[in-house]
Amino acid sequence: MTDSTFTPRVFSGIKPSGGLTLGNYLGAIKRWVGMQSDDMETVFCMVDLHAITVWQDPAELKNATRELAAGYLASGIDPEKSVLFNQSQVPEHAQLAWIFNCVARVGWMNRMTQFKDKAGKNAEKVSLGLYAYPSLMAADILLYHATHVPVGEDQKQHVELTRDIAAKFNNDYKVDFFPITEPVIEGPGMRVMNLRDGTKKMSKSGVSDMERINMLDDADTIAKKFKKAKSDAEPLPETVEGLVGRPEAKNLVDIYASLSDATPQQVIAEYSGAQWGKFKPALADLAVTKLSPISDEMKRLMDDPAEIDRKLARGAQRAREIATPILDRTYDIVGLLRS
Ligand code: ATP
Ligand code: MG
Repeated sequence: MTDSTFTPRVFSGIKPSGGLTLGNYLGAIKRWVGMQSDDMETVFCMVDLHAITVWQDPAELKNATRELAAGYLASGIDPEKSVLFNQSQVPEHAQLAWIFNCVARVGWMNRMTQFKDKAGKNAEKVSLGLYAYPSLMAADILLYHATHVPVGEDQKQHVELTRDIAAKFNNDYKVDFFPITEPVIEGPGMRVMNLRDGTKKMSKSGVSDMERINMLDDADTIAKKFKKAKSDAEPLPETVEGLVGRPEAKNLVDIYASLSDATPQQVIAEYSGAQWGKFKPALADLAVTKLSPISDEMKRLMDDPAEIDRKLARGAQRAREIATPILDRTYDIVGLLRS
């Protein structure tokens, strides 16, 4: 089976597990905006069922879901062009995930590095949902027969697992039903690192607020966070090869490149030999210029939560129009009686 037998369709999502970060913006949303076109259907989701794999305060979860929706809209996701909704309003995600729980193997799940990172030494005490997470993610994607999934590098392994689940389902039931989805991971913003430790990724659920830039941070906070970001004693190198073995320096250059739609080479060409005292304020100014129109618009949208809810209800309806026939057909293939 080749992917070309499927109409191109993009799916991606973010968990409302905290405020949006610069990592989520550069690794995901910014690229989604550029993928919206008349030729390709785009489906973007707030994956709230994934968020509750770790404890979420109920009132906070609703707020975070609306804030995330505001983030998508303010960044340029157009609800007329894209299907925009929160996952729990489309119950077919959970239904297909159950079927995939019966396709995926325990051995595959045991190899997932995100589970190992998130469970840490507490693997016996975390939720079963956290362990089964990749199977729900496969359902999110395959429920729409999505052919392309733009994600950050940290999600590559889960998209590969989605491919394995699709292939095993097709093989077990002797069908060519689910596409073999491609992860779309390209550009310098695919792995934005923690500002205090360049070997760990920036995460919205990370412990310290100083390690990340939040989309709603004001200009002073952004400037302070970049000023205090870990760097090293050397000035910026003459070439990108000079960033090897300097994770914090590489991260700051990559962020600059991604925000300015340049390559790391171009950034180095402009700043080679510069001290951090020059580069960090320039980076902070660039970040404020790019992010403040988005955060202003997010705040404006958040003033009218009912309007956000209306948009999501409409999006969920459109999502179900695509999802229902695919789930029905899956039930028929599996032999689940629909009378
Ligand atoms: P959490 O800490 O709760 O896991 P997160 O910041 O990792 O939150 P997710 O909801 O897990 O965010 O991921 C949403 C999207 O953002 C995914 O496509 C993921 O690959 C991308 N992403 C997350 N963190 C980064 C990062 N540091 N750099 C680039 N992309 C990222
Ligand atoms: Mg994550």
